[in-house]
Amino acid sequence: MILSTHAVVGGAIASLFPSHPILVAVAAFASHFAIDAIPHWDYPLRAIRLKPGADNRRLLDPRFLRDLALIGFDACAGLLIATWLFATPATIGVIVLGALAGMMPDPLRVVHRVLPKQPLTTLQRLHRWTHTKRRLRWPLGISSQALFAASVSWIVLTVG
Ligand SMILES: [Zn+2]
Repeated sequence: MILSTHAVVGGAIASLFPSHPILVAVAAFASHFAIDAIPHWDYPLRAIRLKPGADNRRLLDPRFLRDLALIGFDACAGLLIATWLFATPATIGVIVLGALAGMMPDPLRVVHRVLPKQPLTTLQRLHRWTHTKRRLRWPLGISSQALFAASVSWIVLTVG
């Protein structure tokens, strides 16, 4: 899933038990793997390669900046939406924590490319194993993510 979807789900989880930040961090981090298992669409990266054995030596490629801008925009949009939906002045810190923890496994893939050591190796194996092998096409794969994030938000905002 894209980072925004992970951030919104992480923020929603945080809003359920805002006084338990460790539980929020663990549950939001775990939610990443659960929702990556749902068939979806991910935007293609042009320079950053995450597959095992990929060559990332050409990171000064201008396409690398485009990838970074796209990832940065996605992460910031997710953080903004999660805080707008779930945060109050008292809970903003824990909502941001939940959103960041929900997104975290994806940047850890990049860290693992640079530093292929444990426990990152096991985490990446888990990430690949839980991640759906079914790639939906644009626009179905993105509209279904928006609908999923909206449904989770609606449930948490009405029930939670
Ligand atoms: Zn992921």
